[in-house]
Amino acid sequence: MNRKAIVALEGVSKSYGAVQALGQTDLVLNEGEFVTLLGPSGCGKTTTLRMVGGFEFPSTGRILIDGRDTTYAAPFDRPVNTVFQDYALFPHMTVAQNIRYGLTVRGANLSPAEVSSRVEHALALVGLSKFADRRPAMMSGGQRQRVAMARAIARRPRVLLLDEPLSALDVKLREGMQVELKRIHRELGITFLMVTHDQGEAMALSDRVVVMQAGQICQTGKPEELYDSPANPYVADFIGGANLVKGVWKGRDRGRDRLALGQGQAEVQREGHAVAGLSEGAAVLIGLRPDNLLLGDGPNAISGRVLEVLFRGDRIRIEFTPRGIAAPIFAEVPRAALRDLQNLGPGSPVTFHIDAADILLFADEVAK
Ligand code: ATP
Repeated sequence: MNRKAIVALEGVSKSYGAVQALGQTDLVLNEGEFVTLLGPSGCGKTTTLRMVGGFEFPSTGRILIDGRDTTYAAPFDRPVNTVFQDYALFPHMTVAQNIRYGLTVRGANLSPAEVSSRVEHALALVGLSKFADRRPAMMSGGQRQRVAMARAIARRPRVLLLDEPLSALDVKLREGMQVELKRIHRELGITFLMVTHDQGEAMALSDRVVVMQAGQICQTGKPEELYDSPANPYVADFIGGANLVKGVWKGRDRGRDRLALGQGQAEVQREGHAVAGLSEGAAVLIGLRPDNLLLGDGPNAISGRVLEVLFRGDRIRIEFTPRGIAAPIFAEVPRAALRDLQNLGPGSPVTFHIDAADILLFADEVAK
């Protein structure tokens, strides 16, 4: 889909003294997209969001919003609004007053009728019409989060910035709010830029995910692209989880790589695009997603002994030490697959196999 760019970061970087929070970064957000910055603590995602919001200024580069250079514009002077992690609601104001406040401050210039209509509309959108006269202290965490959303939306921004919007909610509520966020995004049709360290949340909500590590973007793509074709071992493990097994590349014929795992006791064949720069004997990392390891013998079999069996409801997590491989491997199998193996426990012999198309392959940069 060829959509119009609404936000463009061009060569943007940010340093605090000697600390580089964000290295030189280019990033474009398209109109109506839901984009998420995903990465572990300290990777620079909040810094990036704050620069788009106007709460920090870049050390280099520029930020264009809707074609205008807004690099140094004040927060209220850009068509952007932020939902903060702690919601930042005024405790002495009612819900309606909290929302109205944002419409009467600097630069808004709205008629009283327009203000009322926007407050009503924003409350209806987040499902809180009946709560206009409540104070935040008398509301649940999930409801407060909706008020914060309503307040940000009421100003009709072109881009809504969300800083870990669901992190203060418990797991159950968080799942409900994920559905709500997705609906609100669809109904508003504006661009959302969210920050999270929760890969499940990023995958569930976003049109595109920007995976960050140590102040750099490692990969940008649709959730399924990141899952199916991670650019490097870090992304493979961060998105969906992967056992990264050291191995040796032994060659490739007819679209299949021959790979020796660990000390060579097991060999697997992988189907997929060729990885650049491999020559016979090259050290590689072989990515095996726990979900893709299937219990029992088959092509690409890996045998070993069980270390631990962990119950996870409808899924069972099995940790095992494969023959000839130094590190343990995790597999996750449906509970039904274990029914015939009631006695599987620590020390039991076990065999898994994996589809050739599910094996991920990377050059082992560290071993080079
Ligand atoms: P978190 O999920 O913990 O918020 P993050 O990925 O959002 O992490 P940032 O908050 O953007 O990361 O921080 C990136 C780096 O910049 C970190 O090393 C952090 O310590 C540093 N940093 C951020 N803000 C400042 C500041 N005001 N002064 C000095 N260093 C800062």
